Amino acid sequence: MKKKNTVLIFGITSILVLISVQVYIIKGIWQQKDQLFAISYTIHSREGVYAITSGTATDGFDTVRMILDHYASTKAIEELHSAKNADQIVTVKKDILDYFTKVVNQEQDLSALLSSYFESRGFDKNFKCRIIVNSLELIDTDTTVIYKKDGIANINSDRKAPFDISVSSVLVRSPWFVGNNYRFHFDYFIDFSDKNRQVWEETSLSLAMAILSILIVVIIFMITYRNLMEERRLSNLKTDFIDNMTHELKTPLSTITVAGKTLEMPQIRNDDSKILETAKLIGKQSVHLNQLINMILEISMWERTQFQLDKKTVDIEEVMNDVVDSFKGGGGNNSTISQKYDFKGAKIDLDVVYFTTLLNNLLSNAVKYSDKVPVIEIEGFTDNDNIFIKVSDNGIGINKLDQKHVFDKFYRASTGNIHKFKGLGLGLYYVKKIAEAHNGDVAVNSKPGKGSTFTVMLPTIHN
Ligand code: ADP
Repeated sequence: MKKKNTVLIFGITSILVLISVQVYIIKGIWQQKDQLFAISYTIHSREGVYAITSGTATDGFDTVRMILDHYASTKAIEELHSAKNADQIVTVKKDILDYFTKVVNQEQDLSALLSSYFESRGFDKNFKCRIIVNSLELIDTDTTVIYKKDGIANINSDRKAPFDISVSSVLVRSPWFVGNNYRFHFDYFIDFSDKNRQVWEETSLSLAMAILSILIVVIIFMITYRNLMEERRLSNLKTDFIDNMTHELKTPLSTITVAGKTLEMPQIRNDDSKILETAKLIGKQSVHLNQLINMILEISMWERTQFQLDKKTVDIEEVMNDVVDSFKGGGGNNSTISQKYDFKGAKIDLDVVYFTTLLNNLLSNAVKYSDKVPVIEIEGFTDNDNIFIKVSDNGIGINKLDQKHVFDKFYRASTGNIHKFKGLGLGLYYVKKIAEAHNGDVAVNSKPGKGSTFTVMLPTIHN
């Protein structure tokens, strides 16, 4: 159990490590693609700006400059002068700054020019632009600076950029506008709305490979783990079987040994009836021993060769009556056995010897796995194609989990190798094999504490 958990923990940890490594690698690839995108668009846009300025003799800010010149000389300075108190001055300064920023944003033509340049080159033409003001100075007619703001922090502290100035935002221009009454410095950034999709597309192959490799590792781990557990289960079953078999063989052997010693005693040798009793005991135990050994030998033979059935067409009801009668005669351990048949004279092809073993195994289990006086009901009926034999008991029952495995070789329900109920875990395996060899099947239905019903199905013959 401890080893099982260690394997599971080790496996899951390895998978988690693999996932973390893959996530780390994919993140690296993403960042690299993101930066490559930014670098390539920095180059494209610088080339674009160069082509625009040299081809059209405009830098895309002519209108901006005109409006700002006019605004600075006519309105801005006047408004500053007419502000009466400190509060008004603050408000006017803020308005001026807002106006400058708004004019650059709204009146610039660079975005449109760049967009058509990108389109003509087959690049992505959809981008957002953002103006970040670096500094602004208003200069009075007597050349004194009456308003000065430096640094983005000062100017934009109360505003959020519509996009983050991230590593992939491309700084295209950083111009200084110098008019008669102002000096203005700002940055013009562009950012591509399609960037994420493009970067995803380029990263998707690596991502798919990473997911695939994780899936393969998970599947391999699951298969290996399942095989390991199955092997462990089989090895435990075998160990249990050896324990049980040793115990089963030891019981008749020690009885025979004790009986042999008894026969050596002088007082027994003179008593004919005691000699006979001991000889019978030895005989009975030898038969039991022989049966056990034959059972094991037979099963190991089945593993190597196919079932050799000696089938005869029989009336199933007659066979059932014979087997049940001889089971009762062989001492059904005070059990009550009732029979109810409705076979409608069905005939089936049957190896009677194997079928006897099948029914005996079911009956002896019904007696064995009982903690009270066993009450066994045998029911038989037919439909057109099959006959059904149900053997029900009032025994200890079998829980749901064990029901799945009771027909497995060596399997013994939770009793394991506890010797309260003797057995080798072969009886029901035998039952299933025999039913299958007749093209039939067997199933169990049981409730712990209430009892079990085993249903055998065998095909009938059609005339
Ligand atoms: P064995 O009896 O030698 O253990 P079987 O293959 O006959 O092996 O049965 C497998 C297991 O199924 C048993 O160990 C027992 O736990 C359970 N079992 C079989 N028949 C019954 C039954 N009638 N009632 C309760 N448990 C049963």
